[in-house]
Amino acid sequence: MITKNTNILISGASIAGPTLAYWLKRYGFTPTVIERAPQLREGGYPIDVRHEAVQVAKLMGIWSRLQQEKTNIGEISFVNERHQRIFRVNLQPLRKAFDPSTVEITRGDLAKTLYDLTKDEVEYCFGDSIQALKQDEEGVDVTFERGGSRRFDLVVGADGLHSIVRTLVFGDEAQFERYFGYQVGVFTTDNYLGLDEASMQMYNVPGKGVGLRSTRGNQALVAYFLFKQPNKLRYDHHDVERQKQLLAEVFASEAWEVPRLLEKMQTAPDLYFDAVSQIRMETWSHGRAVLLGDAGYCPALLSGQGSSLAMMGAYILAGELKVALGDHQRAFPQYEQAFRPVVTKEQKKVGSGNFFVPGTGLGLWVRNHLGPLLMPPALVAAELWGGLLPMSNSRPSRLKDYDGNVLPTINTIQPGEPLQGGSKDEPTATA
Ligand SMILES: Cc1cc2nc3c(=O)[nH]c(=O)nc-3n(C[C@H](O)[C@H](O)[C@H](O)COP(=O)(O)OP(=O)(O)OC[C@H]3O[C@@H](n4cnc5c(N)ncnc54)[C@H](O)[C@@H]3O)c2cc1C
Repeated sequence: MITKNTNILISGASIAGPTLAYWLKRYGFTPTVIERAPQLREGGYPIDVRHEAVQVAKLMGIWSRLQQEKTNIGEISFVNERHQRIFRVNLQPLRKAFDPSTVEITRGDLAKTLYDLTKDEVEYCFGDSIQALKQDEEGVDVTFERGGSRRFDLVVGADGLHSIVRTLVFGDEAQFERYFGYQVGVFTTDNYLGLDEASMQMYNVPGKGVGLRSTRGNQALVAYFLFKQPNKLRYDHHDVERQKQLLAEVFASEAWEVPRLLEKMQTAPDLYFDAVSQIRMETWSHGRAVLLGDAGYCPALLSGQGSSLAMMGAYILAGELKVALGDHQRAFPQYEQAFRPVVTKEQKKVGSGNFFVPGTGLGLWVRNHLGPLLMPPALVAAELWGGLLPMSNSRPSRLKDYDGNVLPTINTIQPGEPLQGGSKDEPTATA
């Protein structure tokens, strides 16, 4: 029975926040979620749920919904300005070899699934933000931007790369940010090219790349713009018009579909524009405040790990609070001790981005000419490696069991397979 610190404020309703709210509610806490956006953000870019996040999804009973809503990328075609294919990368053998249990889903669909699971039992406050926090021995006084204040026992920052909780509790973001020298822009528009979900097209000039793929049953098109930007751009993170202007300026002279896409961007409802950065901190908690997901340990989008770390972190943080019966002084260090090795390992895996965005004309030439030669043997090697599974790739789960479940070995779980001894895969497990 949880006896202390039951009343918990979570800032951010994307992946980390609602996952934590689910587990806290299940363990007897009372979470409240505050989200700056006026409603759930539906950004359409696909992300991966991988590693132990698959187990977390299964324990939450949402795995079959994720399966239903998954997107299915099969290949990437690199094209020139005349829409001719230079070469293609078949992703299926690579996935089978290195990521067999991963599901790819749009970030918005994952966020919506998590929100739907919790919305009836968790208080969500949209269109507001924490403005100030004042901690004392017994709790935290929170003042909100829209006015008013409330007192909570604990506060969790699950509010992303530019976390307000981190800034208020730990100070300026720049101390913790490791910038990778790229800027990204992503938005959705109509599938005016009639592209198929299984294939992504990628166009490059030195230092810049534009990717296109369809989602949502081929109804929508996701456009990715990635460019090298050695000096970090300075702009207001909430000024979307300025962000559109910056992206349009960088790609103004490019060919292929770029002029049309920049035109469509002007009316896109969901532009995501941000630096490719990692957050590295020596500690994730201070007193009664703690950080979760991108707010505490953003791995940078080139890693493809952000959503998975957010879900795993939420499961562990809630689990440690449960075990400590709400005592944050025991639970926060335990959360950190259990999860930091995982985060450190995954943060080291970030690729350079040079394959997708070669920085020079020579680099682009090399990729476009060596890629077609090297890809077939690489795929044969991947097929062979995939054939060796589960021996080669399986390992014990890095998650502890907080809830009486037996956690299966990673990468031997097949899509749709329930947890060993667990009946929690189907949506019976509500918060
Ligand atoms: C193009 C792209 C591709 C990606 N690909 C992958 C991938 O393949 N695999 C993967 O795992 N991850 C990927 N990611 C990263 C992934 O989206 C994030 O790492 C993941 O969503 C982290 O979840 P989070 O909940 O911690 O933070 P976020 O998703 O950033 O959510 C933070 C939430 O907090 C809200 N918020 C912000 N400020 C405030 C405030 N002051 N008050 C209240 N609320 C606030 C935001 O509106 C948002 O809803 C990708 C990201 C991008 C942009």
